[in-house]
Amino acid sequence: MILMGSPKYIEYIERLARGEMLTHNEFAELIENRDDGLMEYAARKAVEIRIREYGRDIYVRGLIEFTNHCRNDCYYCGIRRSNSSASRYRLTPDEIIECCRAGHELGFRTFVLQGGEDMSYSDDTICSIISSIKTLFPDCAVTLSIGEHSYESYKAYFDAGADRYLLRHETANAEHYSKLHPAELSLENRKECLWNLKKIGYQVGAGFMVGSPYQTSRDLAEDMLFLYELKPQMVGIGPFIPQHDTPFADHKAGTWQETCFLLSLIRIMLPRVLLPSTTALGTIHPTGREKGILAGANVVMPNLSPVNVRDKYLLYDNKICTGDEAAECRNCLQARMNSIGYDIVISRGDSRQEGYIKK
Ligand code: SAH
Repeated sequence: MILMGSPKYIEYIERLARGEMLTHNEFAELIENRDDGLMEYAARKAVEIRIREYGRDIYVRGLIEFTNHCRNDCYYCGIRRSNSSASRYRLTPDEIIECCRAGHELGFRTFVLQGGEDMSYSDDTICSIISSIKTLFPDCAVTLSIGEHSYESYKAYFDAGADRYLLRHETANAEHYSKLHPAELSLENRKECLWNLKKIGYQVGAGFMVGSPYQTSRDLAEDMLFLYELKPQMVGIGPFIPQHDTPFADHKAGTWQETCFLLSLIRIMLPRVLLPSTTALGTIHPTGREKGILAGANVVMPNLSPVNVRDKYLLYDNKICTGDEAAECRNCLQARMNSIGYDIVISRGDSRQEGYIKK
């Protein structure tokens, strides 16, 4: 069967692929009118561009979820501070280093330290963890994903050796932002953090959830415009998935179709972006991560956290791989990538955007 999208929207995709930016209205229309034909067209274009820029290489990042304590109370997130059912844990600096050691043997050359905003790790502790990792594994990149901090803290982590920082903006529309977060959190501050990270010299990752409560096509269009303005080296997107102990327990999950369509549009708009096919996508569909790669993604982020804490970092329900050892995760993903004609490579997998490899 040959699928055909509407010629009008095919033309929008073509324009984007030629490097022309769409307007807010055009993005909203394109996202609103997604059908199988458009999805397939966008995916084909995105894969063409990804193959031109990065070939069939898939980069891996070893994710270390080192704390699920958090001072924030985001309505969607399972480790929000008012979730009294969450069983809380913290890894010690030594335990984190152990995860890196195991990961390095398995071929990981990027470690992502992710956690809630847990103020019990001082800046000095974070800095000493970063510099130990960089000393022990000088061929590796360190990525932080620990939320909102001051310019000075970000600068200190960078000077200690951190290379990259992931901070999803979550939604680029302020009104929508206020429906997902309590009043003490603001889009303005989130964006300022992202600009600060860029200014300091990090490779920066922004991103958002697809199908989060109250999200409209116009909000997603705004996300696209913001990404174009920020030009991050990485973009993390995944479907929203409800968590049963949060205020959004009864909201619907995002779909893999919409997530994949947006992955394709992001690849087309930012050809050199590093784009993960996320665990959340793998959670809502058994071959979600493969679908993400086939829509234009080029990164996977298997979990390196110790198995005894895996099932505690539960941002959303039914998270996959919570019982697997790091090696199992890596092998499983390797097999999944091979099954669709791609290869996991042993590399830091830096952005090909100019000027972003730290000296
Ligand atoms: N505290 C860090 C790391 C957050 S967890 C920070 O603020 O950046 C990483 C990402 O998980 C979040 O940015 C969010 O987009 C995503 N996430 C949280 N809850 C989710 C849910 N219920 N469904 C899908 N993704 C979720």
